[in-house]
Amino acid sequence: MNNLELQIKEAIRDVPDFPKPGIVFKDITPLLSDVQLSKSITHSLAEFWQSSNLDVIVGIESRGFMWGHSLAQHLEVPFVPIRKKGKLPADSYSFEYDLEYGSAEIEIHKDAIIGGHKVLIHDDLLATGGTAIGASELVKMSGGEIAGFSFIVELSFLGGRARLDGYSNQTHALSTY
Ligand code: AMP
Repeated sequence: MNNLELQIKEAIRDVPDFPKPGIVFKDITPLLSDVQLSKSITHSLAEFWQSSNLDVIVGIESRGFMWGHSLAQHLEVPFVPIRKKGKLPADSYSFEYDLEYGSAEIEIHKDAIIGGHKVLIHDDLLATGGTAIGASELVKMSGGEIAGFSFIVELSFLGGRARLDGYSNQTHALSTY
């Protein structure tokens, strides 16, 4: 484990039984409160992705906006938000997917991605991969090419990485459990 991964793991707060019994929620808000650690996270993400010739970074609402946007600024590429249904004002593509209980729907503006552009999908945490797959489907509808997936935290025991392989085998996480 490198030093940054250690710092991330020390800072993350585990909240048992949130939002429902049996889930240990990985609270990343302490990472946001630590200015130096937050900057190190952006720098480390940028170092990993800088040679991938990305055209755009897509961040998933809402915790994917935090370092997704700072990474985009750092790499000097546009940032595009994927939002929950009903939040985006202009014409959007939608994708509905199943959650453990019920379903979720996410959207992207139809004009946000230029056809053929290389897209990095970023979120705070990879669990089962369902959310990142939903984002991938939206990027495909937009004509983008998925260059890879970026996360701060990966819960590897849930097998999300293998499910993402069908879209891109470039999956990077700064810390793994
Ligand atoms: P999944 O679609 O199962 O990969 O879940 C990933 C999404 O749900 C991300 O947007 C995470 O923010 C959130 N999430 C899932 N499980 C957790 C967890 N244990 N702690 C914090 N966030 C989680």
